[in-house]
Amino acid sequence: MNKIRKIALISIVLLGLFSILFTIFLFYDDSDFILRNYSSIIKYSISDGYELPKRNIDVLSYELKLDISQNEKSIKENAKIKLIAFDKTEKNIELDFYDNFEINYVKIDGKNALYEYENDKIEISRKDFNSDTLTIEIDFYGKPQNLGFGSFWFDEKNGKHLIATLNEPVFASTWFPCNDTPWDKAFTKISITNDSSIVSLSNGKLVYKFTKGKRRTYVWESNYPVATYLVSIYSAEYKNFNQKYITKGDTLSLEYYVLEENLENAKKDFAKHPEYLKTLSELFGDYPFIKEKYGIAEMLWQNGAMESQTITAIGSNFISGMNFYESMIIHELAHHWWGNSVTPKTWNDIWLNEGFATYSEALYYEKTSGFDALKSTMSSFKSKINSESGQILSNPGTNLFSATVYNKGAWVLHMLRKEVGDSLFFVGLKAYYNDFKYKNAEIRDFKKVFEKISNRNLDKFFNQWIFEGSGFLELEIKLSEKVISKNEIELKIDIKQIQTGYENYHFPLDIELEDSSGNIKNMTSYIKGNTTLKYKLKNRLKNAHFDKNNWLLAFIETEIYR
Ligand SMILES: [Zn+2]
Repeated sequence: MNKIRKIALISIVLLGLFSILFTIFLFYDDSDFILRNYSSIIKYSISDGYELPKRNIDVLSYELKLDISQNEKSIKENAKIKLIAFDKTEKNIELDFYDNFEINYVKIDGKNALYEYENDKIEISRKDFNSDTLTIEIDFYGKPQNLGFGSFWFDEKNGKHLIATLNEPVFASTWFPCNDTPWDKAFTKISITNDSSIVSLSNGKLVYKFTKGKRRTYVWESNYPVATYLVSIYSAEYKNFNQKYITKGDTLSLEYYVLEENLENAKKDFAKHPEYLKTLSELFGDYPFIKEKYGIAEMLWQNGAMESQTITAIGSNFISGMNFYESMIIHELAHHWWGNSVTPKTWNDIWLNEGFATYSEALYYEKTSGFDALKSTMSSFKSKINSESGQILSNPGTNLFSATVYNKGAWVLHMLRKEVGDSLFFVGLKAYYNDFKYKNAEIRDFKKVFEKISNRNLDKFFNQWIFEGSGFLELEIKLSEKVISKNEIELKIDIKQIQTGYENYHFPLDIELEDSSGNIKNMTSYIKGNTTLKYKLKNRLKNAHFDKNNWLLAFIETEIYR
């Protein structure tokens, strides 16, 4: 049984607050974002999908120095971007940068450079700069915009400030100039200055902090590459508590930062992180950022959580003190393998993030609570998938955070596991992780790893579930018997595919037949198209079950004709 459901069930009995819990079930979705199909809440989107810039550059590092004015709701920032500009014949180097800031100066390798700053881009002239490795420095100030899911907030609660960022998918450039694509990962060094009562957080390790008068600066550094959508800062009067996760000679620092009123609840909700880390490491490989940290910071955005690298952000509403949102916490941690370490090349590959993090929840419950927990978690994912959107997993368009991407995404991994078998599936998952950790991958890279591991061509599987088909499988199964002789019954099973999102799926189907004497026959038949299967039974059929163990993203209607 899924633990969250168990806890929720007890709460219904104890509190009788049916309506409140109903709301939790309705909106709670085992994932980063509580609201589905949130194009309604996203404040800005790019109508043609998240078309990424194709630039001849590779950013090596971002060194950002932010000085925050909470009262003015503004920042002063100095950004140093070290990059390789491959094509020396190009006149300009272009970066994404929302054009609402005032720029003090732009330099290349310490010398003033000419630039144009419009249409949310900055183009810097590389005339007179011949090296292919350059450091661009942009010094600016202003009020960052609040785009996408918010991107940069100056929030307040009970008179206290809380500053947070959430860039996904393409809004890092609302607060620093960058090559805002998941493909271009870079090291970061981020320094945040705020009032001396404030704790400021970012990716990686705290390298130093210092206080000067009434101001305090925190400097965080990541020596693992970070995608721009995972770069983040949080700055508030946080209370902090820590844990340690010890593994094979390494000690990982677990650091939690919450507002005072949530401290006791957070201690309860976050306590099991060593167990989550142990389980996920056994499933996928070592935690990727072991030399730095895993952290959680509270934010006031109340639509879910965000897996910013080494510092997940979670909305206050999801700190309950009762572990209500455990699977969300597991999901964000799992992203540190799927998304943060292995990062998608483009937003069309987001299945590699969200499908994988969602399936990780199910794998965690399977590993800690058994096969029934896997089955029930997969059922709860299934109930939220709708076929009407016509969305194709490898081409989600602007709706990156849909039930197709998350829940069908988890189901596709589950079905791949059935397709290649348990042992190959887990070997393949680890091999894929190992081949692409700290890098980028696209869906075809994942496919190639599985084709190699299984020594099979997986075109059909990937086409029907990922590249071409939408929705799920719908089966109409009719059973009829013919008495051949006293001890011989011929059973005919007509299987018809009636879904609309894809014409002809191929899949393994588990069949369980029980005859009138209680004899049970189990088999797996590989179905291609509409099929009639025939079986010989000794007695009349009593019962038939299809896909009893919940391995297929299918809705099955069965009729028995006597
Ligand atoms: Zn997620």
